[in-house]
Amino acid sequence: MASRNEEVLREAFMTKRSQNKSPFTPTNWKDRWFVLTPHNLIYYDGDRNSGRKREKGRVDLSKVWAVESVEYSAFQKDLVFQLVYGSTADTESVTLYIAASSAHDHDDWLEHIRSLVGNNTNLAEVFHKGALLRNQWSCCRGPKDAVACTPVTWTRNNNATPGMLCPEVDRSGRPRRYCYDQPSPSPPLNQDNMLPKKIVVAIYDYNPTEIGDLPLRKNEEYEVLQDAEENWWRMRNRNGEEGYAPSNYVKEKASLGLQQYDWYLGDATRQRAEFILKREEKEGCFVVRNSTTTTGMYTLSVYSKQPTPQVKHYHIKREGDLYYLSQSIKCRTIPDLIFKHKYNPGGLCTRLRSPPTHGRQPPTTAGISHDKWEIDPNELNLLEELGSGQFGVVRHGKLKCMDVAVKMMKEGTMSEEAFIEEAKVMTQLQHTNLVQLYGVCSRHRPIYIVTEYLRYGSLLLYLRQKEKHLITCSEQLLDMCLQVCEGMAYLEKQRFIHRDLAARNCLVGSQGVIKVGDFGLARYVVDDEYAGSGGAKFPIKWAAPEVLNYMRFSSKSDVWAFGVLMWEVFTCGRMPYGKLRNAEVVDRVQSGQVLERPTYCPETVYELMKLCWTHDVDRRPSFADMRCQIVEIQEA
Ligand code: AMP
Repeated sequence: MASRNEEVLREAFMTKRSQNKSPFTPTNWKDRWFVLTPHNLIYYDGDRNSGRKREKGRVDLSKVWAVESVEYSAFQKDLVFQLVYGSTADTESVTLYIAASSAHDHDDWLEHIRSLVGNNTNLAEVFHKGALLRNQWSCCRGPKDAVACTPVTWTRNNNATPGMLCPEVDRSGRPRRYCYDQPSPSPPLNQDNMLPKKIVVAIYDYNPTEIGDLPLRKNEEYEVLQDAEENWWRMRNRNGEEGYAPSNYVKEKASLGLQQYDWYLGDATRQRAEFILKREEKEGCFVVRNSTTTTGMYTLSVYSKQPTPQVKHYHIKREGDLYYLSQSIKCRTIPDLIFKHKYNPGGLCTRLRSPPTHGRQPPTTAGISHDKWEIDPNELNLLEELGSGQFGVVRHGKLKCMDVAVKMMKEGTMSEEAFIEEAKVMTQLQHTNLVQLYGVCSRHRPIYIVTEYLRYGSLLLYLRQKEKHLITCSEQLLDMCLQVCEGMAYLEKQRFIHRDLAARNCLVGSQGVIKVGDFGLARYVVDDEYAGSGGAKFPIKWAAPEVLNYMRFSSKSDVWAFGVLMWEVFTCGRMPYGKLRNAEVVDRVQSGQVLERPTYCPETVYELMKLCWTHDVDRRPSFADMRCQIVEIQEA
């Protein structure tokens, strides 16, 4: 057993190639439970069911002189890495070959072992990327004692603090040909068309609802066979199975970056990070997210109970090619930096422990499958009623195992043919802050619109119900506005106009997520009361002057409505202009009077609302502008 004072840094089942075997017997791989401690790599007997049993061997990490991947052809096996260790770098060395169970584990173990052997004085310059089989190296065909043939892909500077990678020089100061994070020289070729293969790694599990689509397993690699369409790509897995899978569930291997780590939250805002960390309430729970103010930079958010429960945010700073949070710990990569701070708070409020269990949620897919928007109503299991609106009743439902909301369109309320055509386009709109349209059941009446289900329902009702708690939480309210703005900035970029943006058309999901719904539906309403600005149901109170005057809709008229939505949010769902009749509202807007500042709304936020209510359309900000301004207030 790893003794009590040996801290366990990593443990996992992996397979290990037997050592000291006759060169003529076939290679033999055994399941072993591996434990990495600061000074040893220990492996134990056992299997996946019974767990760890007797210790079978250990490698003293101070004796390790190379930690490298093994080429596939050596064992006809993927994900094998090797530790070469022993008293000298040549004849007396021993090689331990280990096969990881996923690409992520392979890289993760390699990285962590390397960070522990970085100060060894015996690190090698060259190694064999193949294996010694029948007394011959599979890589260079040399005999057992042949000088190793391949420059190491990684080394560490012996004079540097652990965690710093030696950049471009070897130990004698000569330029090094290979460096740790240098991309491999040439990508493998795709056999069908001789183009370089596009290899992606799944960043979420994906369980298809349609036969013929390809399931994805997190951290596994897939070859992309067809990527002509934006949202669904044809891919092939390791077993040669092919099918379509959502492109937003994978990331190109070459640019995987931080996506492979559970602690990376991408573009999550400060508020979202706080929400997630506070809910977990675990000391040292942490996430890394993109800095909202500086592109290409990152922020670390950490939860600590000391002295009082709080989330602290730290900018990860850069100096040359080193990242750091405090002057005492500097690393070449962010994962290295995180790793260091797991064992040493180094100026942070606490040492980093683990990412949140319910951190990064898988995104929605653009429709339920490639090229499919017609849903068979027999596949839908209808559940309770969620509410009713302009078009009729909305019910919760299950589409296979997926939660959905089903809008049952009251007959005669919409021009159905035109909408069904448009629905094909709308399923392709995909963003974290848009209610995803999955498809329609259009072959019977009433038609059903099937969308993503959001458990807390309408934003307007949510604000009204939670007023007591929310009214003074201006940071949380501003974050709601930012989320709506993000969804709208996406629509603006897609040149898609909402036409009816208001709190009643936004929904609230888990983790405090807000999504914009009903985009574009206003065009298909068949109701004289709704159609023109004179109609009783027309949303006059959200309408920009150019809409009132000429029915001229644009993304800029959506921005005006967004200003009114911000006002709804900061009043926790009050009716804009109170009981004023439509004609009086029009007079007010035309004469340049704007809604008053909500009692608890900060002046800076009210200034933003007023920007949305700029009469001159050309001077009114875009959603992209509004996003920057909101973020600036958040970060101030
Ligand atoms: P609507 O017809 O869009 O105005 O919806 C009527 C009501 O149904 C809303 O106020 C919500 O409470 C509920 N609802 C609509 N869509 C969804 C959804 N996707 N998820 C959960 N509840 C919904």
